[in-house]
Amino acid sequence: MKLLIATRNAHKLAEIRAMLPGIELVGTDAWPTVPDPDETGKTFEENAAIKAEAWLKATGLPALADDSGLEVEALGGAPGIHSARYAGIHGDSAANNARLLRELAGLPIERRGARFVCALALAMPGEPLRTLRGTCPGRIVAAASGVNGFGYDPLFVPEGFTRTFGELPEEVKARISHRARAFALARSRWFGEA
Ligand code: IMP
Repeated sequence: MKLLIATRNAHKLAEIRAMLPGIELVGTDAWPTVPDPDETGKTFEENAAIKAEAWLKATGLPALADDSGLEVEALGGAPGIHSARYAGIHGDSAANNARLLRELAGLPIERRGARFVCALALAMPGEPLRTLRGTCPGRIVAAASGVNGFGYDPLFVPEGFTRTFGELPEEVKARISHRARAFALARSRWFGEA
């Protein structure tokens, strides 16, 4: 089976290759003129589904898409699907992190619970769309720490650890992250790994 990965991000494609060994993956490079769909969903799953269905429709190939972000309990689940542009500019991690720290300022550690979420959607020709999610629970620290990873990693301490994803070795994140858990589920539920 040839599977299209519905992302224009080469780094993400490389990461996904490592998480889906033995499956022939293709990126979106061969279709430079296909427009990226608007992510108008209200949930991670809806946005992943919009991307997977749009790419199946455009190419006829089975398509896998992901959507991810951070949900903070004290903020009612924000930034959620708006994680990449929480402070207004898409992808401005420094500003996003500064806003998150501001919103949580003064809250004690027991009220700083959060989780990373990664939803995957698989659109196969002639079959109902499938979705699943992986989550990684933890908490948000009071000040950024560490340089590993990206996005909110310097603010997030995963459950069972005392250091942030920014400080922990990348192998740890690769094992326990929301994305790692979502792809482990995808391998067992969708791609026939025992
Ligand atoms: P995307 O859906 O993978 O593009 O992720 C959306 C946004 O969620 C990113 O821009 C980050 O702000 C945040 N995010 C998703 N996954 C992670 C992660 O593993 N670490 C830190 N931030 C993340």
